[in-house]
Amino acid sequence: MLNNLLPIFDGHNDVLLRLRRDGGADPVKRFLEGEDGGHIDLPRAKAGGLAGGLCAIYVPSPSMTKDANGDYPTPSQPDAINETLAMARLLFEIEARSEGGVTVCRTAGDIRRSIETGSFAAVFHIEGAEAVAADLDALHVLYQAGLRTLGPVWSRPNVFAYGVPFRYPSTPDIGPGLTEAGRDLIRACNELKIMVDLSHMNEAGFWEIAKLSNAPLVASHSNVHALCNHSRNLTDRQLDAIRDTDGLVGINFGVLFLRDDGIKDANTSLDLLVRHVAYIAERIGIDRVALGSDFDGTTIPAELKDAAGLPKLVEALRSHGFNDAELKKIGHENWISVLERSWA
Ligand SMILES: [Zn+2]
Repeated sequence: MLNNLLPIFDGHNDVLLRLRRDGGADPVKRFLEGEDGGHIDLPRAKAGGLAGGLCAIYVPSPSMTKDANGDYPTPSQPDAINETLAMARLLFEIEARSEGGVTVCRTAGDIRRSIETGSFAAVFHIEGAEAVAADLDALHVLYQAGLRTLGPVWSRPNVFAYGVPFRYPSTPDIGPGLTEAGRDLIRACNELKIMVDLSHMNEAGFWEIAKLSNAPLVASHSNVHALCNHSRNLTDRQLDAIRDTDGLVGINFGVLFLRDDGIKDANTSLDLLVRHVAYIAERIGIDRVALGSDFDGTTIPAELKDAAGLPKLVEALRSHGFNDAELKKIGHENWISVLERSWA
């Protein structure tokens, strides 16, 4: 660690998607040298203590018009693998041109070393496995390229499962569970030691994975349903299942998943985010809560603004009563520890 900020290792960001979608020239340079828009680039990560995190490769729906079932359309596998390769290439080009400033990490040791030396610790993550066909060939090849964590679905159906639609107010119990191909995917992830991410699963899929998987249950960017009645959030029963497998929840900064009024209002206090962290710590233990910002993927509290604002969140957590040792756990130790257990 090169400055005295608390290093934050975060469970979910969409910076690769933002850089691709912005369409501006030289996305690698924009990440490394910084820019005004969005939430993350390297200078702002350094300014806020963002030491790294799961860098999602997410393939957007071909349109944001919902189909007759009320679901977002799912990209085809050929389109999804093409887009996934383009975004993975972007990640590796960022690493290659960063002169040591960014490291794509494949082990917990890689993450620890990167944090110590001040190199941004990126983990290659897929959110929604549309790029992988049911034969799972792409899963094996992407693993060799560095893929270490994967969410089977985003909030739409694919060949593996039915992602939980965005609904408020609503339970997460919407739609069917895993398909046969989905069960094969979970078994293959267990064998390859790819962490399975439960964020965006509906309840049926969550419980099937809980039964099937031999790894800790992890939701990288989901919040507390008891505090915010949104379909993307986790019920107390789900939290208890995560505790029972020594898993982890990364708290999402998205105001839609924090506020109990369902209003998309960036004028949302950081104290509310702290309440979600504290709820999980109290219910399932301080070792099982961390952060999953959703930077560059959602509307976050204006007070935080971007990655450079993370020290404000750390101060809010400290004011709530978390001590230095607990802040380190929430900030990075819990994530590194659950990844180490998932990858062992
Ligand atoms: Zn997400």
